[in-house]
Amino acid sequence: MQIDLEVERKEILNRYKLLIKACKRRLEKGDKEMIRKAFEVAVEAHKEMRRKSGEPYIYHPIAVATICAEEMGLGATGIVCALLHDTVEDTDLTLEDIRGLFGEKIAQIIDGLTKISGVIDNTSSIQAENFRKVLLTMSEDIRVILIKLADRLHNMRTLNHMKRDKQMKIASETLFLYAPLAHRLGLNTIKTELEDLGLKYTNSEAYYEIAVKLTETEPERKRFIEKFIDPLKEILQEQGFNFKIFGRPKSIFSIYNKIKSKGVTFEEIYDLFAIRIVIDSPTENEKSDCWKVYSIITDFYHPSPERLRDWISTPKSNGYESLHTTVMGPEGNWVEVQIRSVRMDELAESGYAAHWKYKDSAAEKESKLSAWLLRVREMLDSPDPNALEFIDDFKLNLFSDEIFVFTPKGDMKTLPLGSTALDFAFDIHTKIGEQCIGAKVNHKLVPLSYELKSGDQIEILTSNKQTPKDDWLKLVVTARAKSKIKNSLKEQRRKVAQGGREVLERKFYKNKIEFTLQNINDFISFLKLPSSQELFYRVAVGNVDMKEIKAFHKHKENPVKAKKQKVAPKIEQLVTSARGGNDMLVIGDDLQQLDYKLSPCCNPIPGDDVFGFVTVGEGIKIHRVTCPNAIKLLSNYAYRVVKAKWTNDQLISFLAGLKLIGTDELGLVNNITKVISNENHVNMRSISFDTEDGIFTGTIMIYVHDTKHLNHLIDNLKKVKGVNKVERFDQN
Ligand code: MN
Repeated sequence: MQIDLEVERKEILNRYKLLIKACKRRLEKGDKEMIRKAFEVAVEAHKEMRRKSGEPYIYHPIAVATICAEEMGLGATGIVCALLHDTVEDTDLTLEDIRGLFGEKIAQIIDGLTKISGVIDNTSSIQAENFRKVLLTMSEDIRVILIKLADRLHNMRTLNHMKRDKQMKIASETLFLYAPLAHRLGLNTIKTELEDLGLKYTNSEAYYEIAVKLTETEPERKRFIEKFIDPLKEILQEQGFNFKIFGRPKSIFSIYNKIKSKGVTFEEIYDLFAIRIVIDSPTENEKSDCWKVYSIITDFYHPSPERLRDWISTPKSNGYESLHTTVMGPEGNWVEVQIRSVRMDELAESGYAAHWKYKDSAAEKESKLSAWLLRVREMLDSPDPNALEFIDDFKLNLFSDEIFVFTPKGDMKTLPLGSTALDFAFDIHTKIGEQCIGAKVNHKLVPLSYELKSGDQIEILTSNKQTPKDDWLKLVVTARAKSKIKNSLKEQRRKVAQGGREVLERKFYKNKIEFTLQNINDFISFLKLPSSQELFYRVAVGNVDMKEIKAFHKHKENPVKAKKQKVAPKIEQLVTSARGGNDMLVIGDDLQQLDYKLSPCCNPIPGDDVFGFVTVGEGIKIHRVTCPNAIKLLSNYAYRVVKAKWTNDQLISFLAGLKLIGTDELGLVNNITKVISNENHVNMRSISFDTEDGIFTGTIMIYVHDTKHLNHLIDNLKKVKGVNKVERFDQN
């Protein structure tokens, strides 16, 4: 196809001029310039893009803006946003660019539009009711929804260029979600068009059958309508009314629904049209004038008493005002008659957005529009309980204490407000929760504690080495996650404690203490522990060692004297006391075995170059020679430094920390955890990642036996694609 760019350029400008003409609201000073600027920015941003039809892409935003102006009565802000609605999502323009060019308000609406399409277009399974909730909770400004509706309407109008499967998806989504939303907002014309187009693509056979029959029966219907309205016209004129009276065909979609729900044929439907009388009447008289017209009509045609609908005294919750009656027509058929004022008619067709017309000053118009926007929001938030009768088939109960989030496949989960990534993991499956090491929210790495927001899409990262930790209880809000974590922690302790029982038996044996229930209970009260399980657990994690057992032994022989020496073990010292006895290190020139502590400032592990430092109150402390404190200690207190050397490496684990820096590659966390879990004798205690501007930093705490293991692991981690630097760090 030959494209004449000059012709296209002229056509773009032509469409732009039509848009300006379509602006029903009088544009204020500066509005036109702002719309022009948005137009130019959009033209430039989309200049290389074409629609599926081959047309320039910019036709689409112009069309959407025209719908917003013409059919929704939106003002300059809405039109600017409609022109820009696809820029941040589809072009190089960023939200920052928009903010810089057009200010905060417009940027905020564009952001809402971009986010909403992110949720809708990336979500494969639709749960319509929940979707509507998401839409509404996510959009702070109702204009986001209105522009999204206009966007969808134009996409539906041009759907014939799409592939069949896309047509089905978009059309059914439209029937499910957008048409009811338009109805809810009182945008009747748009709702009807969306429904008809939706039917056209989901059941085109039925659509065309009805469409053809409607055309075929049109002349006959016209004749009937004339016969029906001619006598009414005369009387209404005599009474001095300024009015329009006409027949209005029902929509194809509503006829289709009637055929389906009532099991009738097209020919059996008598109300294929309604008669509408729109009177031009000042606001203060419109109600009484409507009733006057009602009485004239029912004088002429006999009304059905059950079918009077007064939505003038009590408007529908979406703002619809009208008086409906059904009368017996000249040929013995029931005919629906709708009576309303011009104002009510415009309102019914374009929703509350039509309100702007009935105020004079520009400021009043603006405030009326904001009032409408506010009212729609309120209405969406909490349907008026008094108007329950008129509330549509879908009720929007917006619970502000709920959030709606998605799995990577697009399934939706409802969670309480404040839920974290970890809550989500447990909501998916207990196992996923227990092995959770982190999550990706909207494709970005976040920690377990990340608080979720409505619309977030979450992928949970797991490792089979992971187990629930005590502090996890502080990271979750759902009862489900809490109880699962508690159960798992209990189970862990129980298992560990089982091993501790055997260890204690051996230790008692070494110290010549009989392993009897009595002695175990005495030892429990000696250590002031609550239960035997707690004792066995502490033994298993190395928190009760020879020292306590020796002290206990002495205490048994001489209870009073030994009392002072008992040591209350602290769980926090798990790491430094995780050694199996005093035989790990030899200290001093004569390399004696002395009591020592591993200094927490550098966490020495077997294999590290170490030295001992004689402290005032805490005996000898072991530091690595590379410890940040070492130089200070060595230079200032050389006389207190003693040699220390590892003797053998037993299979005891020591905690070490690694810091990783690199670029945020796909699957990086997965690859890192894979390397760690493939390394023998290495266990991960915690892992956390942070990404900023594509650079990630990771902190991993692992248990290793010695430096040999650690260095081996560091070498392997450096080989992971995306990792630039791996360092051991001292403080934890
Ligand atoms: Mn669009």
